[in-house]
Amino acid sequence: MTEHLLNVENLTVEFKSSGSTMKAVNGVNLQLNKKETLGIVGESGSGKSVTATALMRLIPSPPGKITDGHIYFNGRDLLQLSEKDMRNVRGNDMSMIFQDPITSLNPVLTVGNQIVEVIRAHEKISKKDAATKAVEMLKMVGIPEPEKRLKMYPHEFSGGMRQRVMIAIALACNPKLLIADEPTTALDVTVQAQILDLMKKLQQEHDTAIIMITHDLGVVWELCDKVNVMYAGRTVESTTTRQLYDNALHPYTWGLLESQITMGTQEQERLPAIPGSPPDLTMPHSGCHFASRCPLATEICHHTAPELVEVQSNHFVACHLQSKEQIVERKEGIFNAAK
Ligand code: SF4
Repeated sequence: MTEHLLNVENLTVEFKSSGSTMKAVNGVNLQLNKKETLGIVGESGSGKSVTATALMRLIPSPPGKITDGHIYFNGRDLLQLSEKDMRNVRGNDMSMIFQDPITSLNPVLTVGNQIVEVIRAHEKISKKDAATKAVEMLKMVGIPEPEKRLKMYPHEFSGGMRQRVMIAIALACNPKLLIADEPTTALDVTVQAQILDLMKKLQQEHDTAIIMITHDLGVVWELCDKVNVMYAGRTVESTTTRQLYDNALHPYTWGLLESQITMGTQEQERLPAIPGSPPDLTMPHSGCHFASRCPLATEICHHTAPELVEVQSNHFVACHLQSKEQIVERKEGIFNAAK
């Protein structure tokens, strides 16, 4: 059996506040091989960012806590490591970039100092050599006049340039896994495309595996080999990107696909979002979490939660309707009843 670079089993994260407990991530499984890119998609509150933060073991505690599961990375369970060992893993083996680089960069240190600091925290190297490496890193992520830029502060960079700096910092120690949490959301469409191209190029050059957290299936299409769709803290569909676009089976995934910017058009034509809102995860719930918003819900959906099952090779779905035939039949039933 091949060993995955990352193998997450039954990851569960809870947040406690004022006597109530919210299961933000509920029994999530993930596998990622070297050089692969996995997209985790869902609306806000679906648990995708909490999953990413948990993989880095950066859940703020309290109020949050990883209450169950395993995160095997390169064969070691990260949840069993001491904080000191985990610090070595972060930066050396795994890095993360966030949506808003301005809050991740230190405003009172020059960009050069920040990159040098990261390099020297993980490599025994002189300040001078680290500065040379920092110039190379800025060049690599396409920042013009890197020697001059090294002496500048974050506020002197544009949003797109700051995100390039964050990518340079994240890749400074050549991590095996890069986790990117909505890295292009705050950027305009042209800069967004440039950053995605840059990530693709760097991935090919450095053999890095990537987890891309996003609400945008267009980003998944551009960058990812496979995708996990999350809703209310659980995986509801998981397959290859191609299969998701050709044969999405979960009604929530259809809603996401339909609410994306129309592919292949120049116009920013945004279709209506999925009606309704996600459930309150602090309340006890039986049945499918999507039932109140699902146009295909039946009696069973309201009292029995569907398991995530493999309905075709490498295509997992958590829905009582598990095949196109069942879905078409159900849709026709609704249509005929309305006539
Ligand atoms: Fe819809 Fe039922 Fe499937 Fe949930 S289990 S997505 S409610 S059809």
